[in-house]
Amino acid sequence: MKCPHCTIGIHESWSGKSFQYYNQPFAFAYRAMHCPECDKWIIQIKGDTETDWTLILPRAASRNPVPPEVPRTIAADYLEACNVLPISPKASAALSRRCLQAMLRAHGYTAKDLAKEVDMLLAETDASKAIPISLRTVIDGIRNFGNFSAHPITDVTSLQIIDVEPEEAEWCLQVLEECFDHFYVRPAQAAKRKAALDAKLAAAGKPLSKG
Ligand SMILES: [Zn+2]
Repeated sequence: MKCPHCTIGIHESWSGKSFQYYNQPFAFAYRAMHCPECDKWIIQIKGDTETDWTLILPRAASRNPVPPEVPRTIAADYLEACNVLPISPKASAALSRRCLQAMLRAHGYTAKDLAKEVDMLLAETDASKAIPISLRTVIDGIRNFGNFSAHPITDVTSLQIIDVEPEEAEWCLQVLEECFDHFYVRPAQAAKRKAALDAKLAAAGKPLSKG
């Protein structure tokens, strides 16, 4: 299994305890283990069935770290959306929705509601802003979550609670991760490559690259 703190693969070695309450079909149980990689404890409690365990420590399994190129306010909404996911998919999706809209609007995709803004992104004709297939696939999916994209947001700072399924809320986090890559990480990498090229050209006494 992957450690939910550090995401490194580790061997499962649980110790725990179960409690039977009269003739209830399932006992209450908890189990814990220590991660040898990051030196943290992982604790689970048993859910409704014998094989269903719910993570209680850490609250949410770690996802990949936020790339440093992502602006702090955007990263903050994303991290909050990750942290509240196990407790409230609705709250998580509301944060994801605000985070996605802030990114789209910062890049010129501004319309009446989020669904139209997603349409604008998908219809991008500027080759230099062409959206990668991985982002196209995940973001197209949220158009099917009627509640997620259909409501207008008049003020990006407002949070609207919307009904979503837990899987939909998790999907939204994937959309944000793909957007980080597209809007912030790749342009920063391209700018770095261009600067390196220009430095070489300048050293050779040649004109700078275009763009
Ligand atoms: Zn760990």
